[in-house]
Amino acid sequence: MHVLVTGGTGYIGSTAVEILLSQGYQISILDDCSTGHADTAPAGVTFIQGSLLNGGDLAQALVGVDAVMHFAGKSLVGESVEKPVMYQQVNVQGSRNLLDEMHKSGVTKLVFSSSAATYGEPEHVPILESAPTKPTNPYGATKLEIDQMITAEATSRDIAAASLRYFNVAGAYKSDRGWLAERHNPETHLIPNVLRSTKENPVKIFGTDWPTSDGTCVRDYVHVVDLIDAHIKALESLQPGKHEIYNLGSGDGYSVRQVVTAASKATGHEIPTLDSPRRAGDPAVLIADINKAKSKLGWIPTRGIESMVTDTLASFN
Ligand code: UDP
Repeated sequence: MHVLVTGGTGYIGSTAVEILLSQGYQISILDDCSTGHADTAPAGVTFIQGSLLNGGDLAQALVGVDAVMHFAGKSLVGESVEKPVMYQQVNVQGSRNLLDEMHKSGVTKLVFSSSAATYGEPEHVPILESAPTKPTNPYGATKLEIDQMITAEATSRDIAAASLRYFNVAGAYKSDRGWLAERHNPETHLIPNVLRSTKENPVKIFGTDWPTSDGTCVRDYVHVVDLIDAHIKALESLQPGKHEIYNLGSGDGYSVRQVVTAASKATGHEIPTLDSPRRAGDPAVLIADINKAKSKLGWIPTRGIESMVTDTLASFN
């Protein structure tokens, strides 16, 4: 099967490309490299450095393709609050263009990177796919809008689609060419920040007065390799005219302090931290109910927080 991976030079997309290739899929990549890195694109793939906002780039990227894994987009909550119009344009308009161009090219299979941010502040945890969707920031709102657009597309144009709602993706993948890991600048994600913490520049703990057991936020971390495994299982299970939504997490929560403790164990030294004010837009607890992905896709995440921390650490060297 020939898969177009949009956003295929980013952290999660580039991992998908390597794992798909290792399993015999043929790959094209469309990425504008605004946050990704062209050097991750392996030999043997068709790489189009271009944009979802450019019809010509999209048409070129879809040549010969059977299915699309759509990772491309802006993904920072804080940035989305500052630049909502950019998020609307890149995420929503970009996805609209992709769906229209897929229709023109006769491509009917889609796996989309959605987000737990579509749920907003949950009324119940663990969060089911049927939970109310009330995003609390523009990033989550754009992901929800795209999910709704895909549902309409499945009904009106009979496409076969899955939206995968990620919780906190972490860890790294060791390919034949070396480690693929997060290379964001600036890095905002907890695990890389914890591992880079120094006495001079300690990692900030955003909020120590949350209503949780140790006062810090609880999140559900899922290893990027398990995450991609779920994408491939979703791709292989697509049904025409159906849009399925699956949560992807581990089903377990870790507080910020528990992540710091796991990192201290992995590094062999105590990670310096700085208690800091809450970060705007953070819910206290986000934990996925992953029973749908387990039962319908036969997916079982197998890599725990220790592997996420040790793989991220190994990727730094
Ligand atoms: N966090 C933190 N310090 C950091 C980065 C993150 O305390 O330098 C906290 C953040 O408030 C959240 C959790 O760690 O509760 C995970 O944040 P991250 O940015 O990794 O992912 P998000 O939950 O925003 O998708």
